[in-house]
Amino acid sequence: MAIAPEAIHDAVINVPGVLNCHDIASRGVLGRQAFIEMHLVVDSDSVEVAHQITEKVEAILDQKYAPVRATTHLEPKSYSSEQISFV
Ligand SMILES: [Zn+2]
Repeated sequence: MAIAPEAIHDAVINVPGVLNCHDIASRGVLGRQAFIEMHLVVDSDSVEVAHQITEKVEAILDQKYAPVRATTHLEPKSYSSEQISFV
């Protein structure tokens, strides 16, 4: 993995509207090109608002780990998990 999942979790969970972030994975080379994937649960049932939250998540990850491509997988609130990585 390129980035510790705990570090990604700490950054993402502080984004307003993010309720849960788990199954975090990263690959690539930090500082050259990193790729991050995660599952997200957000505090909105509106696709439009949920999308805005994922854009904020991507912007924060970009500030910390650029160049990075972040892929988020949105899940309904009932899927909340305490697991924060694949390990
Ligand atoms: Zn999940």
